[in-house]
Amino acid sequence: MDRSPISSVKEVLSAIMARYENSSANAFVCDFDGTLAPIINDPTQSKIPQHIVESLLLLTQKIEIVAVISGRELEFLNQAFVPHIGRHGEMPIKIFGLYGSQTNDDNFAGLHRTSGMTAELKKAILQCSTSLPEKIYIEVKDNGVVFHYRNSPDLETEVLAMAEEVTNTFPVRALQGKKVIELVPADQIDKGDVIDYIGNYADAICYIGDDYGDIAAFESVNKRARSGLSIGVFSEEMPIELYQKCQFILESTQAVHQLTQELLFALS
Ligand SMILES: [Mg+2]
Repeated sequence: MDRSPISSVKEVLSAIMARYENSSANAFVCDFDGTLAPIINDPTQSKIPQHIVESLLLLTQKIEIVAVISGRELEFLNQAFVPHIGRHGEMPIKIFGLYGSQTNDDNFAGLHRTSGMTAELKKAILQCSTSLPEKIYIEVKDNGVVFHYRNSPDLETEVLAMAEEVTNTFPVRALQGKKVIELVPADQIDKGDVIDYIGNYADAICYIGDDYGDIAAFESVNKRARSGLSIGVFSEEMPIELYQKCQFILESTQAVHQLTQELLFALS
């Protein structure tokens, strides 16, 4: 490769502005972990800087839709955003948790009613995983079970074999992430469904993400020819499929933060 595939914040900003200027309604949509919040060893501790939350809130006054779509539960995402809006304010950022299964957007929730994963199925999955060493952090969510092996990457083969056994036995699919595998109902909606929905309200959509779960969102954004912009966030663990699907790559979460602030400045 002749040049670094990493784009400067300036380059990405001008691509966003070019799309926004030719559109009557715009959307700025971000993933959470690895995009707005740096990836750290303990997933319960990941945080987004306060001034970035404030910039996103201010962006809602300049852009029709500002949204966050994550594999995290809505409750966790609310803790990151809601304390910043004041006691009586309404949350102007659209927040989609569990890939869209949980959201503060009542309209979307009405269109995509999901019941999560049954307790019996979660129990069956946990039973299949009893042979895994205790070092694997197991997170039980409303819509499934997540196996985190960031702290013991040498156990990846065992975790993936267990996941394969589960997907071959139950109506479940495996979502790969960075040092994590998530087992969710086979018919669960994905981030692409959320982007398709946002497309009903916005002509130009910019989406920023860093992991396997963002590929569906990039595919939806890329269908929009000159009005969609897919931006990846680089890391050593960046999936090759994501690399192939994004139009631009930012260097890090810090670059995403800088872009957010410069976009606010450019629109003010
Ligand atoms: Mg991510």
